[in-house]
Amino acid sequence: MTKLRFKAVALASERKPLEVEKPKSKTSEYYGEKVFNRKAMTKYLSKETFKALNDAIEKGQSVNRNLAEHVAAGMRMWALENGVTHYTHWFHPLTDGTAEKHDAFVEHDGNGGLIEEFEGKLLAQQEPDASSFPSGGLRNTFEARGYSAWDPSSPAFIVGETLCIPTIFISYTGEALDYKTPLLKALAAVDKAATGVVQYFNEDVTKVISNLGWEQEYFLVDEDLFMARPDLALTGRTLMSHESAKNQQLEDHYFGSIPERVQRFMKELEYEAYALGIPVKTRHNEVAPNQFELAPIYEECNLAVDHNLLVMSVMDKVARKHSFRILFHEKPFKGINGSGKHNNWSLATNTGINLLSPGKDKVENLRFITFVVNILAAVYKNNGLLKASISSATNAHRLGANEAPPAIISVFLGTQVSDILDKFEKSSVKDAIVVDNKKQISLGVGQIPEILLDNTDRNRTSPFAFTGNRFEFRAVGSSANCASAMTALNASVAEQLRVFKDEVDALISKGKSKEEALYEVLKKYIKESRSIRFNGNGYSEEWKAEAKKRKLDCETSVPVIYDSYTSKQSIKTFAGILSEVELHARNEVKWEMYTKKIQIESRVLGDLALNHIIPVAISYQSILLTNVSKLKDISDDYKTLGAEQIRLIEKVSTHVNAVNAKVHEMIDARKAANNIESEREKAVAYHDNVAPYLDEIRYHIDKLELIVDNEMWPLAKYRELLFIR
Ligand code: ADP
Ligand code: MG
Repeated sequence: MTKLRFKAVALASERKPLEVEKPKSKTSEYYGEKVFNRKAMTKYLSKETFKALNDAIEKGQSVNRNLAEHVAAGMRMWALENGVTHYTHWFHPLTDGTAEKHDAFVEHDGNGGLIEEFEGKLLAQQEPDASSFPSGGLRNTFEARGYSAWDPSSPAFIVGETLCIPTIFISYTGEALDYKTPLLKALAAVDKAATGVVQYFNEDVTKVISNLGWEQEYFLVDEDLFMARPDLALTGRTLMSHESAKNQQLEDHYFGSIPERVQRFMKELEYEAYALGIPVKTRHNEVAPNQFELAPIYEECNLAVDHNLLVMSVMDKVARKHSFRILFHEKPFKGINGSGKHNNWSLATNTGINLLSPGKDKVENLRFITFVVNILAAVYKNNGLLKASISSATNAHRLGANEAPPAIISVFLGTQVSDILDKFEKSSVKDAIVVDNKKQISLGVGQIPEILLDNTDRNRTSPFAFTGNRFEFRAVGSSANCASAMTALNASVAEQLRVFKDEVDALISKGKSKEEALYEVLKKYIKESRSIRFNGNGYSEEWKAEAKKRKLDCETSVPVIYDSYTSKQSIKTFAGILSEVELHARNEVKWEMYTKKIQIESRVLGDLALNHIIPVAISYQSILLTNVSKLKDISDDYKTLGAEQIRLIEKVSTHVNAVNAKVHEMIDARKAANNIESEREKAVAYHDNVAPYLDEIRYHIDKLELIVDNEMWPLAKYRELLFIR
């Protein structure tokens, strides 16, 4: 292993940036060339088919068999012309990442040969062997089988020689076994609810679209160094290693230029992303050494989620080509920043209005306030759920652990919007809402300057921040499927908007004017949801205490956080999106995943501690012992002469004994946890009784790393992992 470490350091240091071939045409020309997009559709589908498909997508209707046949025929022709031989239904099971099962484009021709064939029914539906995907018991209690069904709202694309068809994945009895199904339902719900509310202001609006612009953070590590770290290879994070003397203190990485080897990787990644129709735009260094970020232009939420998952797999592939390994883990290295995936989210109408943009005049300002207040109320009522939607064993290292952000959801609005809400709350209806002679209702309390708001006071410590024309949900983990957070958020806002409209309409039917009704309900919500608003330092200890006083959800144990999914409020929030049975089943999967992740980390750490660390520490100690005993041969004063050696011998013993004892205690804790029947209780036991050992054992190993001769240390050190590129 020691040999492996030094060989890896040598190889990594000598690595040269890879040549990357530039596409022959302009970006705008090859953009989307691997996507069955509108351009391809107009070429390969008849006018009628194209129109029927677009109508179905627009209205969210299902595609009938006849239409599917026509689309499949066009898609097949396009795919074959692009060298495709196989097709797959591409879906998002409840594990992380995506799943695919490839089938060749061939059928019997009836004469003993084969023909290239791709029927409509194969486009519309497939039956992957679903038994190995997690279902939380849904498939045990109901039907064993699951099937995938075409999502026409996300276009098919080509990877290598395979046509990938985005699909949902459900059981035969209709329960969702994936992330996409509830996301699509939540998006439909928010569309319907928001459209109802916008119509108080703009009667011509018939559709509201949820937009998402994600920012993906990641680390790159040289491939050979990665291989010299079995913990990184097996768990995605380093389970041990002392901090590097230099890491991010100087902030020189963030402001520095992008290293050449990394730039080549980024370029190739961008070429591939553009060909796949993913509008990537921003690339830069992040705060920690070897940490970077990629962000596209925002898109409709369902497409943005697919694009994020697709780009993550492209990033992994391109990184390997450049002899890197990409780390999406939320906290691969202790002591430096972790990685997130900020979800910039907004609602826009089919008439082109961004509902989270303050707007140009007082009429638009009132509409803006209406949506902001409802979002506040939604986040307030569902703060536990929203936290659950981003919680995982890996993201727990970013949130609620020893470092920075606490596991508490609050909303940052900035001073301008906060002031307006405060004024609104104290005002009378005559001041707050005015009606002009054209019967237009508008905001009476204070103007919000449109330009000023964009990029005004930013608060980087808030998990959910207003940033001028959108909210930024920052607590999402870098390895997560955005669909989880986006489903919870859109569902929460949809439910809230429905309640709001019901309340306003009830007041109107009792004889109140529209403006009075809006005023009353908004004022009530501003009061009720006050405790979710926080503009201060979200990383401070005072905030933790304050949040507790405000009765916000402060739970830090991930398995317990998942309970929020089945709270009374969550069941209401998910009405029509996920049933109570589905919510329970999905929690079973979450608990199981949690347990498995901690179990794997615990095993890997135990193995490395016993087979790598302790033997090396003892070998080093033996050298010291030999040295002392030889000193004894030449001098009676060996205790003085060998004072430092003797001190080190004792220290090594202390740490080795501690590591050994704790590894065995951890194994016992694991055994006890494994005997627990309930998935929830098992996950809780892993959280409470197993996970703490990971830190305790690590502490002693990291101390040994500082003592043992560098030449003998088997695992690549932080300074090597983080600074060689
Ligand atoms: P920053 O790092 O300052 O937060 P970036 O420019 O890196 O911002 O990323 C911002 C992301 O927000 C991009 O994906 C961008 O397309 C997206 N975005 C901008 N406006 C909106 C909007 N109205 N709705 C959703 N996303 C948006
Ligand atoms: Mg951002």
